[in-house]
Amino acid sequence: MPQAGRRPLSNKPFSDGFKLTAITLIVCDPSHLCIEMPELPEVETSRRGIAPWIENQEVSRVVVRQHNLRWPVACEIEQKLPGQKIRSLSRRAKYLLIRTDAGTAILHLGMSGSLRIIDTGTPAGVHDHVDIELSNGKALRFRDPRRFGSLLWADDPFEHPLLRNLGPEPLDEAFDGDYLRQTAQGRRVSIKQFLMNASVVVGIGNIYASESLFVARIHPKRQAGRIALRRMESLVDAIKTVLGKAIDAGGTTLRDFHGGDGEPGYFQLQLEVYGRGDQPCLRCRRPISVIVLGQRSTYYCKNCQR
Ligand SMILES: [Zn+2]
Repeated sequence: MPQAGRRPLSNKPFSDGFKLTAITLIVCDPSHLCIEMPELPEVETSRRGIAPWIENQEVSRVVVRQHNLRWPVACEIEQKLPGQKIRSLSRRAKYLLIRTDAGTAILHLGMSGSLRIIDTGTPAGVHDHVDIELSNGKALRFRDPRRFGSLLWADDPFEHPLLRNLGPEPLDEAFDGDYLRQTAQGRRVSIKQFLMNASVVVGIGNIYASESLFVARIHPKRQAGRIALRRMESLVDAIKTVLGKAIDAGGTTLRDFHGGDGEPGYFQLQLEVYGRGDQPCLRCRRPISVIVLGQRSTYYCKNCQR
């Protein structure tokens, strides 16, 4: 188990290891933000861009140039993966699951990780830590300048400590107003922090929580347990719409995952409230407020969100 040799930097247990507290944003122009840290839509975009190149291919060789990622690269990646056929590339929360008959590689992009399909033998850069070479002459290359990503292994990924207590996927049918209302019963935490809790629902980061609450007209500080079913239903609709739009936007970048030596530029998002402090609300024109909630910048409209 990776617990045995954790990086000294990351002394948190798996259970909260990925509650990242920082996000780096680059302002491209006033109406756009470039996300540097992959959130759920970016991970899903990566999956869609990579899957056609690796599914049903046999792994011919694995090259690990840097073992010290968020946790040490699992030894099975080098020992068990070669010779295996990749049955599928799926996603659970922000984990990509490379499934084979021998087990599953669990890949997390961390804060700065990216994946590319390259021709085998393409010279590696200093941050290109792992290549999974395939029988079709291509390789899946994992680049991660800040090394907060991880590459682990499990016989059954859904029993892995990082995955087994996760809440439902936001785009699944099981995630609906009833579920959210029932789960929130008696909870005094703010609705925004509640949404960002991965045991409630996975993959709603700081940006998408602010955006969804704006669309649903719910104040981010409202107690989760005091929101009526009807409003929870609007919130679930808003979450699905916001994430769905972001995934659709990512579709335009799928070809960027193949070839070249740069990093796939995570797509620009048109955001309605996040990052727009003091700018006019797109609905009522009053200035957008910024507060810090759970140590995260939170944007909302005092007038539209109750
Ligand atoms: Zn407003």
